[in-house]
Amino acid sequence: MPLSVTFLGTGGSVPNKFRNLPSVLVRRGPELLLFDCGEGTQKQFLQAKAGTNRKMRIFISHLHGDHMFGLPGMMHSLSFMGRTRELEIIGPRGIVQFVRSVNRTVRLYSRFPILVREVSAGQVVNDPEYEVRAAWGKHGIPCLAYAFQEKPKSGKFDPVKARRLGIPEGPLWKRLQNSPAITFKGRRILSRSVVGPPRRGSKLTYAVDTRPCQEVTKLATGSDLLIHDSCFDESAASKAREYGHSTASEAASVAKKGKVRELALFHISAMYEDPTPLLKEARRVFPHTILCKDMETVQIAP
Ligand SMILES: [Zn+2]
Ligand SMILES: [Zn+2]
Repeated sequence: MPLSVTFLGTGGSVPNKFRNLPSVLVRRGPELLLFDCGEGTQKQFLQAKAGTNRKMRIFISHLHGDHMFGLPGMMHSLSFMGRTRELEIIGPRGIVQFVRSVNRTVRLYSRFPILVREVSAGQVVNDPEYEVRAAWGKHGIPCLAYAFQEKPKSGKFDPVKARRLGIPEGPLWKRLQNSPAITFKGRRILSRSVVGPPRRGSKLTYAVDTRPCQEVTKLATGSDLLIHDSCFDESAASKAREYGHSTASEAASVAKKGKVRELALFHISAMYEDPTPLLKEARRVFPHTILCKDMETVQIAP
């Protein structure tokens, strides 16, 4: 299924007049996934007209304020906008205490249940149609990178071939799609004679506030889109090392090693009013690099 990815906030640490704090909205059919929720995210979210009562999961990378101070505002706004469905919030250790503290100290008037889960590296969501896996990045505090991956879909059924083999339309077609072979009028008919090869789904990796590292590269391998920390340009490489971030060209090296299809530079430091040098540096290493403005949307399909 095609994914629509809207960059609600592409800045980092502090906002500037061009970039909000980190948050990425992924729309998959009627479902929403939100990666990080920096301060002010609810305004961008409402502007994106994503719908306030859809199935929704929020993934928090780590407990630095620029990635999760938007949660109280988001919960408050969703409640005022009439949400009634459960909201799932997933993050590293400490996220449960944070959400509980907010609920204890502020009257949120929440009309919907909130499920908060603390997770670690490994599979963190196993949905019938997709999974989300996490890996530890390299930052000053525990920070999770997330990879969303659709499960492979069964191959395309070819009705012309099925009719040519004399198989009548109906339950036999379904059986052929779902099992390796069927027996029909004494004949053994292989599924692969009428069903194409399995179709791969889309993969998206979100890795912020991290030095380039093997764990993230492994997690991101084969992604259609990698959203990677690119806080600085090469002239500020020492700052990237000191604060546990990446330069644009380091992000590009991860994209190259992980053989991803496209790289989106993200978590751009507020010191860059014009981030063109970051894009140029990254494209020298990995040409398929983009740098989105806030509220820009990209579509990805397998
Ligand atoms: Zn940050
Ligand atoms: Zn951080």
